[in-house]
Amino acid sequence: MDLNFSGLSGKNQPETQHVKVLVLGSGPAGLSAALYAARAELNPVLLTGLELGGQAALTYTIENYPGFPDGVGGGQLGELFQKQAERFGARIEMDTASSVDLSQRPFRVTAFNGEYLADSLIITTGASPNHLNVPGETELTGRGVSYCATCDGWFFRDKKVVVVGGGDSALEEGLFLTRYASSVTVIHRRDQLRAGAILQKRAFDNEKMKFVWNSVITEVVGKEAVQAVKIKNVVSGKEELLPTDGVFIFIGHTPNTDFLKGQVEMDERDYIRTNMLMETSVPGVYAAGEAADPVYRQVVTSAGMGAAAAMQAIKFLEKSGEAQTVKAA
Ligand code: NAP
Repeated sequence: MDLNFSGLSGKNQPETQHVKVLVLGSGPAGLSAALYAARAELNPVLLTGLELGGQAALTYTIENYPGFPDGVGGGQLGELFQKQAERFGARIEMDTASSVDLSQRPFRVTAFNGEYLADSLIITTGASPNHLNVPGETELTGRGVSYCATCDGWFFRDKKVVVVGGGDSALEEGLFLTRYASSVTVIHRRDQLRAGAILQKRAFDNEKMKFVWNSVITEVVGKEAVQAVKIKNVVSGKEELLPTDGVFIFIGHTPNTDFLKGQVEMDERDYIRTNMLMETSVPGVYAAGEAADPVYRQVVTSAGMGAAAAMQAIKFLEKSGEAQTVKAA
């Protein structure tokens, strides 16, 4: 990833900074929110988090973001988002929030490099796909190991892939992969799928889909690219090598909201609850993108949610007299 975050500061900043709009996260939702808040002349500060550009930046080519008929690199799109937000005055800080106090305004946000007091807060910290945590997985990510069929499926035209997981995501993404791959082998740790009946029927009816039951991957094998997976039958204990070109892992996502626990309402899976206006349970705090969206998880939807969150923050600050009335952002 080649994101050039020019605002790499923090070290020389005063310890506590008071800002009108603080955005947490540098994926499409965060950078869109920063753009809108900047155009409203609210001088937003965005803390990038650890993954610059969010999950989108890990994607080799994004072909479903409107406006780029030939596709665009995930990292490149992140840079463009950043450049546009900075052009209007957003300040991008390479820093990560570690805790928040949302019990009163201004909200207090503690980050690794300093502390912020924020009149409004937009949380766009995203979600991370769960990993298998087996040897070879990290090393071969982007070289055959993927967590996104929509992003990477195209690269596996006429190739063999395996999909890990037995939930709706595994089957839905596996079925999507049958458009390209010559075969899609679902490896599931039990002998029954968790996915809904309709998806199960579609998967069983699809000639390209195969199933390996009661099995887990113990290693992803390959040097420059994935060549095989080592699988272990959890009933018999037998291990074997299954040749494959790709490994798609869909064993759930975890929203990056740990540091917000007890501060803002979340659902049973720790996604931040919002209404249609991106408002959270705390007035003045908004959430957008995958930290609040277990459903769509697309660059275009996250960017839209980020823009909406910023527009609501602008209205909130205008109402509370902390922002001069601004024209349409
Ligand atoms: P999920 O329902 O939590 O399923 C995760 C799957 O991964 C399960 O089959 C689980 O096995 C398996 N798994 C978990 N950890 C594993 C590990 N360490 N090693 C191997 N396998 C592991 O996650 P999801 O499929 O992403 O779905 C998340 C939510 O979104 C669900 O509520 C789902 O209904 C919804 N969703 C809906 C749709 C749709 O309606 N079209 C599409 C996608 C997602 P076990 O079954 O043994 O636990």
